[in-house]
Amino acid sequence: MNSLYASLGTTVFEVMSRLAAEKGAVNLGQGFPEDDGPRDILEAAARATLEGPNQYPSMRGLPELRQAVAAHYRAYQNVDLDWQREITITSGATEAIAAALLAFIEPGDEVVLFEPLYDAYLPMVKRAGGVPRIVRLQPPHWRFERETVAAAFNEKTRVVIINTPLNPSASVTSRAELEMLAELCRAHNAICVSDEVWEHLLFDGAEHVSMLEVMRDHTLKIGSAGKMFSLTGWKVGFACGAPELMDNFAKAHQFLTFTTPPNLQRAVTYALGKPRAYFEEMCSTLQRSRDRLVSALEGEGFVTLPARGAYFVSIDLAASGIAMSDEAFARHAVDHGVATIPFSAFYAAPDAPALVRLCFAKSDDTLDRGAEALINARRSLL
Ligand code: GLN
Repeated sequence: MNSLYASLGTTVFEVMSRLAAEKGAVNLGQGFPEDDGPRDILEAAARATLEGPNQYPSMRGLPELRQAVAAHYRAYQNVDLDWQREITITSGATEAIAAALLAFIEPGDEVVLFEPLYDAYLPMVKRAGGVPRIVRLQPPHWRFERETVAAAFNEKTRVVIINTPLNPSASVTSRAELEMLAELCRAHNAICVSDEVWEHLLFDGAEHVSMLEVMRDHTLKIGSAGKMFSLTGWKVGFACGAPELMDNFAKAHQFLTFTTPPNLQRAVTYALGKPRAYFEEMCSTLQRSRDRLVSALEGEGFVTLPARGAYFVSIDLAASGIAMSDEAFARHAVDHGVATIPFSAFYAAPDAPALVRLCFAKSDDTLDRGAEALINARRSLL
C-alpha cells in the first residue's frame, strides 16, 4: 500500500457528515448549501441528459462551455482567455488541483502553502513528490506578511498554492497581497495555483481579485460550478491559464478523469448565462444567513471571527469561554446536536488555533436549530 494514504484518515468533511447523520445532528460542518440548486439549472441538466449526446465530450471540455467560461471571466474579472488553448473543464476543483501538481512539479520540488489549508492540498503535494513549505497566516485577519512569505521561497520553489476567498477562515486576499505573492513567484520562476472556487461568494462589499489578472503568465486559476451554482455534487471545475501551463495540465487531466459528464457541462453552460442579479442575490441571501447565525451566537456569549467570503464563519473557542481543543469541542457539539468542522483539519502541525468552522448556507430553521444546539453545548461546559 502507498504509505501516504495508509497513514491518512478519512477526510473530516465525510467524517462529520456521517456523524451528523448517525446522531441526527444539524449539519453545519461540511460546506454545502441546504437548497438543492436552482430549478432551471436542474431542468437544463435533465434535458441535456435526455437529448444527449452522452458520449465522451472533448477532453478539454465542451467547446460551448469553454466559451462560456471565457465570457464569464471576461465580464467579471478583466481576464481575456483563449477558450481553445487556455481553459480545461475538470471533474471538480479537487481534480484540477491534483492535475496541476502532477503536471507542474518533479519529485523534490518545493511547494509553498498557507495555513489554514484545505485538507486535500498537503496529501496531493506529497503524493506528487513535492516538498511542502508551509506559511502560517494568523487570525483574525489572516494577512500575508511579506517577510514570512518571502522566507518560504528559495531556488527549489516551483509552485505556490493559494485559496481566495480562503476556506475555512472566510478571509479575502487583497490585490496588494496578490501582487506581493506574484512578485515572489516571478523572482523564483514559480507557478501560482490559485484556487478561487469561492470567487462569487463575497460579503460586506468585499471584492474578489483573480490571481490571473495580477499574474497572467504564471497562474493556473481554478473555478467551480458547484460553488457558483450551489450544486456541489456536480463536480464541474474550470482550470484557466496560459497555454504553456495548460498543455501540460491537460496531459495530467487526460489520464486522471479524461472528461467530465457532458450533460452537466451543458447545464453549466446554461447556468453561466445567468444575469449579474443571480450572483448578487446569492450573496445577499447568504449574508443574511451569516448575520442571523452570528447574532444568535453572539447574543449568547460566543465570539466569532469576521467572515467576508465563502459560506463559513468560525467560532473563537477561547474567547467564547470554552477551554477545549477544537476537536474536543466538535465532538462535544455533535453530541449536543450540531456538527461543525474543527480548524485543526486545516493544519499540518498539531498546534492549530482553537476555532471551529460553521457553514451558514442553510435555511433559517436549520441555522436556528444549529445555534440553539451550540448554545446548549456551551452552557453545559460553564
Ligand atoms: N469544500 C467543502 C468544505 O470545505 C467540502 C468538500 C468535501 O467534502 N470534499 O466543507
